[in-house]
Amino acid sequence: MEREVRVRFAPSPTGPLHIGGVRTALYNYLLARKLGGKMLLRIEDTDQNRFVPGAEDYIRQSLEWCGIQLDESPWAETPGPHAPYRQSERKPMYRQYAQQLIDNGYAYYAFDTPEELDAMRARLTAAKVPNPQYNSITRTQMRNSLTLPAEEVAQLLEAGEPYVIRLKVPRKEEVRFNDLIRGWVVVHSSSIDDKVLMKSDGMPTYHLANIVDDHLMEITHVIRGEEWLPSAPLHVLLYRYLGWESTMPQFAHLPLLLKPDGTGKLSKRDGDKLGFPVFPLEWHGKDAETGEPTVSRGYREDGYLPEAFINFLAFLGWNPGSTQELFT
Ligand code: GLU
Repeated sequence: MEREVRVRFAPSPTGPLHIGGVRTALYNYLLARKLGGKMLLRIEDTDQNRFVPGAEDYIRQSLEWCGIQLDESPWAETPGPHAPYRQSERKPMYRQYAQQLIDNGYAYYAFDTPEELDAMRARLTAAKVPNPQYNSITRTQMRNSLTLPAEEVAQLLEAGEPYVIRLKVPRKEEVRFNDLIRGWVVVHSSSIDDKVLMKSDGMPTYHLANIVDDHLMEITHVIRGEEWLPSAPLHVLLYRYLGWESTMPQFAHLPLLLKPDGTGKLSKRDGDKLGFPVFPLEWHGKDAETGEPTVSRGYREDGYLPEAFINFLAFLGWNPGSTQELFT
């Protein structure tokens, strides 16, 4: 049976919504509307250290101003079938799947202290290992449930010793997926870290929460910025180990909006330098160094029309092959 197309925009409320984020939301929205599907918004707020008050409201107002309509979101009057849509309110679900991975031998407890991890990185750096990682080789020298006797692991857990849960990435395997934009992406598993899935504070990391939610929310297409392309092979492993490979979404990683000279991702600072706003709405923030209040101008305050803004964004990555320049 054909699945209903379901896409999502999954911002983290860590600051003002960037123009690149709005473009990601727009592409998801356009695909959903074109294919008669649904678009949902999920707030990815598991990283409490990076949480910025007011950011969620800003995301909501920005999307409203652009006319991007959501079928399911934390703000809908009647909650959708997969509510709640804030990850911080879905914690027990992630825990359950992390446990399933441990029980099936795909994840393990790691008890290493920050000092032990630093020492490991220092050892690898001294040995000129280019990219020091916690992986199938280094984990054999660390304090985790793969190296410690089972009774000791049980004692440590019983005693409330802090631990994280890591994914057990296989040593030698090819991980592949077909990206709708990039084509086949093939990565050797030895280049993938044994990423943390559950943190010592009991919160899931982005990787686990994102995959569990995309699966439970029946997402068919993951359209997001290219900065997430390096994480996708890890996500493919998670789908496999959770037994969800047959309904894994299709990935489409969008090229990023770059600085005018092409040297990197367009940032707020570039916008300020160029005298052009990179946000839809005015943002009241704080200077990262001095803590002084800052105001960043937005398109609305500059008198741009939402129609002009979204047409500009849509055309930054696509052309209809005709001379038509304005779409509704
Ligand atoms: N929370 C991630 C972000 O802020 C979402 C990435 C994704 O779409 O998977 O960009």
